Amino acid sequence: MTNKGILVVLSGFSGSGKGTLVKRLLEEYDNYALSISMTTRLPRPGEEHGKSYFFVTREEFTSTIERDGLLEYAQYCDNFYGTPKAYVEEQLANGKDVILEIEVQGALQIKEKFPETLLLFVTPPSAKVLKERLAGRGTETEEVINKRMRRAAEEADSMALYDNIIVNDDLEACVKYTHNVIQSAHSTPDRVSKLIVNLKEELNGFSEGE
Ligand code: 5GP
Repeated sequence: MTNKGILVVLSGFSGSGKGTLVKRLLEEYDNYALSISMTTRLPRPGEEHGKSYFFVTREEFTSTIERDGLLEYAQYCDNFYGTPKAYVEEQLANGKDVILEIEVQGALQIKEKFPETLLLFVTPPSAKVLKERLAGRGTETEEVINKRMRRAAEEADSMALYDNIIVNDDLEACVKYTHNVIQSAHSTPDRVSKLIVNLKEELNGFSEGE
């Protein structure tokens, strides 16, 4: 079994409940680290700098890109979002499974750079439930909600590129399911290639001794 952590991308429509899912994963299990993104979006009520996001200006965002400080970045509904590189590299080296809660364009950039990344897509059971959840948040205007629904329709086209689709109907079941999917990924052949090589050598040793 490898000691290096897995890079896990969790995408999903705005309102899919992926934020709550990630929060519950971190509470429930100790093998996860969550990457905090950088954004040019303004904080929503209750959001804290350094906890929800690193809230920065356009200039600060651009200078971080120029310093090669982001693993990926994308524009989403008029704002920029990006993943700071250093924290992710450090946590993976520590053996943590690092979760990036990012949108589709960023997810595909990550998969291209690091093909072994596990791409998970979280969706509510239907578009109706999605709209209800977005409206129920009470933090967005009707215009923003409609924009996010249109964006969801675009994002749905990329769902087929993901490794696993997670239907978030019952939260607790969804937490357990997601954890199982990530932990199972630790034993895919590409991640246990050393074990396979060692086994093969040992097996050859046995055959030679016959
Ligand atoms: P929100 O404004 O609702 O917090 O986030 C909008 C979208 O941006 C969500 O789909 C969220 O997952 C995504 N996002 C958050 N951080 C990042 C990031 O670092 N990179 C990318 N590409 N998307 C992000």
